Parts: sequence; C-alpha cells; structure tokens
Amino acid sequence: MQSVVASGTERRCARLTLLEDPFYHRLAPGRERGAVEFGLTAGQVAAEMAAEKWGREPEAIASALKVPVAHSEAPAQTGRSVLFSEYGDRPPSITLHMRSVEEANRLVRSHHLERLLGVSDVGPIHLAHEVYHHLEAQRLTPGTAGFRIQTGRLGPLRFRTGLPSLSEIAADRFAAGLLGLVVPPKAVEFLTIYSLNPDYAWESLARLQALPA
Ligand SMILES: [Zn+2]
Repeated sequence: MQSVVASGTERRCARLTLLEDPFYHRLAPGRERGAVEFGLTAGQVAAEMAAEKWGREPEAIASALKVPVAHSEAPAQTGRSVLFSEYGDRPPSITLHMRSVEEANRLVRSHHLERLLGVSDVGPIHLAHEVYHHLEAQRLTPGTAGFRIQTGRLGPLRFRTGLPSLSEIAADRFAAGLLGLVVPPKAVEFLTIYSLNPDYAWESLARLQALPA
C-alpha cells in the first residue's frame, strides 16, 4: 500500500490518464509533458476560482451551482472497472455510487490508511472531480478545450480534436487542489479499488511505476 503512495506522483498519475486517451497515438512525440501541464493548470485555475467563490466543500459548491447530487445504491462494477461517480450534463447531475465509495472507505479503515492518505472518506474526492466536469461543461472555467491536436488532413483542410483525458487530469487536480490532498486522486483510487479488483489495481500500479515521475 505504501508503494502505491510513493510511486503515485501526480504527474505519473496524469501520464497514465493521458496514455488511456483514445487520441493518444495522434499526439506528436514530445508533446506529452505539455499536454499534462495543460490539464494540471486548467484544474488548478478552476480550484482556485471555486475556492474563492464557493469555498472548499464539494457538496456546498454543487449546491451553490444547483447541481443535484444523487447517491446511488446500485451495483457499480462494470467488467474490470469500478465506477465511483458520474456526471451527466443534460440536465446537469452528479451521481455518487455509494457501494463503491463505502467499500473504499472500509478498505481505508481496515488498512489504517487514513494518515497515509489524509482522508477517511473518498466520497468528497469523487464529488469534487465531478464538480470540475460541471464547471467545464457549463464553461464556468476555461477548461482543457484549448489544447488541440491535428487528427487528419484532406487537401487544405485540417481536422483537429481535443484530448478527453485532459479533462480527467484537470478534474483530479481540481479535487486535489480544492481538498488539499496529499495523495493524487488516481493513487487513492488504485488503493481503493484493490478490494474490488486486486489484479486491476496491481496492474495499474505496475504501469504507473514505469512512467516518468
Ligand atoms: Zn472524470
């Protein structure tokens, strides 16, 4: 468990998120660092703005923004992945999957990880992450759409797209900045999916350790 925290630096976690991007192979070599920094900066800017306007409680921010937060008790494991939370923008709503959150909290308690992680409840981390998606969807923050890559060319036409993973990187930085986390949300997630899917957790850790810190 300690090794997850030690290897899970924020930039490594962000790199891993970037690697999972459907357009990663379109990103020109050498632009990875710039992409990661773009995402982290977008999240940090939003966290500072939100803290100043609405404070640091994700619940209070969601309520100030009038985004309903539903607590779902339905099973939230689909295949290998474990779902903690979701954001839907039509109409705006956030769903927290309480079974996953509670299972994660049980794991934190039973392994005495509170001090290591600095949190005993992972719920606010996931809620803050989704609040960022709302801020970006409603253009209440500059967000990550400004980072574009070229995906194709047809005569004089150039096709460009954004990288969806940057929004995930920004959302995690937002949560970390807002809540003052000592461990990046993705590293917390690796720890907390362990009890639900140990193979996936260890595989993710091995991939994480192979990335530049
Ligand atoms: Zn997300």
